[in-house]
Amino acid sequence: MASEKNADLRTKSQKVLAKSEQQARNEHTLNYDESKAFAIDCSTLTPIYRGEPCLKCSFCGSSYSEEHKGKTCVTCTLSTVGVQTLGLVTGA
Ligand SMILES: [Zn+2]
Repeated sequence: MASEKNADLRTKSQKVLAKSEQQARNEHTLNYDESKAFAIDCSTLTPIYRGEPCLKCSFCGSSYSEEHKGKTCVTCTLSTVGVQTLGLVTGA
């Protein structure tokens, strides 16, 4: 990385970094609270914080908020979100 070829890029990125650290503004509000544990809603990609209702796909374990109950899981496209199943049952 220290080659002459990258010298230009390195100078440029150091300038960008220096300027952004100098200004240190958070222009975009993030939907994120680092002090709380959370799962990611696999459909909307938003956090579901601990204590909030959280549904799981019975097949792959993907998390969803309650509004996605009854929809097909977007991760595995095999299971319905929020439906508890027994799994494979044999007639023995
Ligand atoms: Zn799934």
